[in-house]
This record gives sequence, structure tokens and C-alpha cells, in this order.
Amino acid sequence: MAVKNKKFLFGLKVDRQLDGDKMNREFLDKVIAEGGEGAAIASCMQCGTCSGGCTNIDRMDMSPRTLVLMVQRGEWEKVIKSNSLWLCTSCYTCTSRCPRGVRPSDVIEAVKAIAIRQGIENDSTRFNQIFVELVQKRGILFEPELMQKYGGLQAMLEQAELGIKLALKGKMSPFPAKVKEPQKFSEALKKAGKK
Ligand code: SF4
Ligand code: SF4
Repeated sequence: MAVKNKKFLFGLKVDRQLDGDKMNREFLDKVIAEGGEGAAIASCMQCGTCSGGCTNIDRMDMSPRTLVLMVQRGEWEKVIKSNSLWLCTSCYTCTSRCPRGVRPSDVIEAVKAIAIRQGIENDSTRFNQIFVELVQKRGILFEPELMQKYGGLQAMLEQAELGIKLALKGKMSPFPAKVKEPQKFSEALKKAGKK
């Protein structure tokens, strides 16, 4: 029998993946189909390097290491409830450091896409939705409009001072900008929508 088909060789575990016996292939395949680099997910050895380098782990309720483990096990309910999905900044530190070629950032993106398709709604999905609608409408984001749609009048008032400072320094325009070539932009949008 080939070594790769064995779990143990002379008493040592051949595949260092710690939870191989509990892997949920069905769920894993779902994430792979969404672009989650499935083979690499399966080879995670739970070393924690990804979590050690994660730039936003202090605010997350599930570390990237645990999240990958939960995906392996098919613990959908736990994964979907985790705020880590929405707090991940896609900085790719975890992915660049993983010694087994797992791409935790891509796994998170894949799980998010599945969650959104299944209709999950929270503050982050609402923010993303407003963001996309505004970019579709103007081609360029107009920050005060985003603020007003997302946080309402209260958010506008809270951020007014900062907004004025940014406008005075030329970092933010008080008026919406326009795309230079709207035709090209709408073509690009249509193309992206087909993917
Ligand atoms: S760094 Fe890679 S192998 Fe280590 S726990 Fe994270 S995903 Fe798994
Ligand atoms: S991509 Fe997300 S999970 Fe990975 S290190 Fe950055 S914030 Fe953490």
C-alpha cells in the first residue's frame, strides 16, 4: 500500500492533519467550489501560525486556525455565526505565512459568499450592499452618501467634524465625483456581473 494512503507508519502519523477522521467532505467540497483551495484546507495541521500573524484577531471570536478546523469538520452553524467572517480585513498575512499552503483568507471569502447566497444578513452585509449599490449608481463612491445611508443622520452628525477637516485638506470632496468614461464603467459592471 502506498504511504500516502496510510494514516500511520511505524506508529507515526503520516498525514499531520490532526482531525482527518472527522473531516466533512461534503462541506469541504462546497467551500472548494466557491474558490477555497480545498486540497490545502485538508492539509491544515493546526499549527496556529495563521492566528499568530492575524492582524485583527483581538476582535474575532474565532481564530483563522479554528475557522479552518470548523470548515474541515463541516460545523456550518458555528462558522456562519462567527464575527471573524466579517472582521477579516483580507490582509493575506495568514495566507502568506501558512507552512502548508492553506489560504485561510480565501477560505473566509468562500464561506462569506456561501453565507450571503443563503441570505444571511447583518451590519456587514448591509454595509456591503449599500457600498455596491452606490458604486453601481455613480461609478465612484461618495463617502457622505455612504455614511448617510448606512448610519443615518446620527452618523452624519458624529462624523461631521472629521468630514469638514478632510474636505479642507482636500482629502475628500464635498461633492460627488463622476467617472470619466461611464460607458466603459457600465460595460465593466456587466462583465463582472456575469462572473
Ligand atoms: S497556518 Fe496553515 S497549517 Fe497552520 S493552522 Fe493556519 S491554516 Fe492550518
Ligand atoms: S486575511 Fe483575515 S484572517 Fe488572515 S490575517 Fe488578515 S485579517 Fe486575519
